[in-house]
Amino acid sequence: MKKFALIFFSIFLLIVGGCSNNSASSDKNANKNLESEEGLTGFQVSKEPVDMKIHLHHFDGQVIFNDDWATFKKAAELTNVNLKGVAPKTSTDSQEAFNLMIASGDIPDLVQGTKADLTKYGKEGAFLPLDDLIEEHAPNIKKYLEEMEGLEEFVTASDGNLYFIPFIADGEAQKGWFVRQDWLDKLGLKAPQTIEETYEVLKAFKEKDPNGNGKQDEIPYFSRISESLGDLTILWGARNDLYLDGDKIQYGPYEEKYGTALSGLAKWYEEKLIDPEIFTRGAKARDILLGNNQGGMTHDWFGSTAGYNNLLKDQVEGFKFETFAPPQNTDGEKVETTVRDPYGDKAGIAIGYSTKDPVKAIKYLDFFYTEEGRRLMNYGVEGETYDLVDGKPVFKEEILSSPDVPTTLHEYGVQTLFSYHQDFEYEKQWLNPIALKGIEEYTANNYFAEPLPPFSFTEEEEKKIIEIGADLKTYRDEMMQKWVMGAEKIDYKKFKNQLKNLGVEEYIDLHQKAYNRSIEK
Ligand code: CA
Repeated sequence: MKKFALIFFSIFLLIVGGCSNNSASSDKNANKNLESEEGLTGFQVSKEPVDMKIHLHHFDGQVIFNDDWATFKKAAELTNVNLKGVAPKTSTDSQEAFNLMIASGDIPDLVQGTKADLTKYGKEGAFLPLDDLIEEHAPNIKKYLEEMEGLEEFVTASDGNLYFIPFIADGEAQKGWFVRQDWLDKLGLKAPQTIEETYEVLKAFKEKDPNGNGKQDEIPYFSRISESLGDLTILWGARNDLYLDGDKIQYGPYEEKYGTALSGLAKWYEEKLIDPEIFTRGAKARDILLGNNQGGMTHDWFGSTAGYNNLLKDQVEGFKFETFAPPQNTDGEKVETTVRDPYGDKAGIAIGYSTKDPVKAIKYLDFFYTEEGRRLMNYGVEGETYDLVDGKPVFKEEILSSPDVPTTLHEYGVQTLFSYHQDFEYEKQWLNPIALKGIEEYTANNYFAEPLPPFSFTEEEEKKIIEIGADLKTYRDEMMQKWVMGAEKIDYKKFKNQLKNLGVEEYIDLHQKAYNRSIEK
């Protein structure tokens, strides 16, 4: 399939004389042929109604473009561009649906996809380079590119072109600490404030039977993602991956403290303070261990974890799973290393190479970067999904009372991974109060570590980084598991040496260079 696509686009490039390598000339020609229309009003991008095709298929078929979605019908009223969905309605594999569309060579006017795919096939000619189109016809997108930190680096491909307009997430907090407050109350303890107190609480959970069944069956610390055991290394001042230390890029496992942290975790594991099955239990860990009244503490996403207070209120008597601040670590700091990345969804919309009117397509996308377009994608249509109260959109009761608000909103085309800037206020309206309290506490105290900026690499650098990065991750995760479970004695010197052999210094250096370039800019 891939070969077919490659051949297809190679032929295409020959025919059009390498237009994708010379975006300036092709776009200018396009503009000349399609003189800007006079007399457009409001958000109109065309005087006459025009139809455009879109491939939008994500979350493995949970969201597939529907011509009846209220948001895009409203957008059609305002812009005169009417979208028709072409993604297969029955497919439950978004990647496969995307690959088939590419392989067919029949690329619709607009295509939703991941950054990796849109950039890759953009470079091969399937999608238009958008830089000049934005410059001349998309003032709202242009403003975002100029003003939003890291956005330009995020969207720019290694060949220097921009092939997609992104979905930008909003909100800062991602994961936080949760503890069984009802167990603490029962044992006369308080939420731990330091690493030492964390140890004491976990120990008490293990030994003092807080679930009251007469057995030491409590699992003090658990996680549904084994790799996130790495989040705990911060308690010893270590980090599990690349991080920013002032202006220096560091790789956490390559620092001495990492060895100390893993010794600490191995001790906790040996004392059964960490789930013995943490490396194998998997995605259902919260359902199982909270549902069985066994799990005591975790570090996980605020929204979904706080949701267990509702889910289990009738099943586990007195169940209270509440947030607490990151415990002070051995360096005397309270740090939350996870932070929501505005570009973390790595998704957006590209324009197909054969679209009849690239100018109208980019103008249409520009609408969703206006305040009006942003509100439409975040809240839907006024009077239908929300009302304006004191100038602010407030969801209608039937939306807020639905068991799964995001899924309900998707049925209107709202909050899909189209290209626009998400607004965290939308989430605040339905988030569990416990999650909201935690998020507000973390945000007000700014516990967040400085996030890594999006890096922009050359093609050669990118290749190297993917290669070394994969080796480092495999080795790190393998050794973490062996050490924590006590399968192998911790030999940090040997570990560090092996990281060096795998190219960690080049890996750090390439990131440092990219970081320096972005600072100079
Ligand atoms: Ca027990």
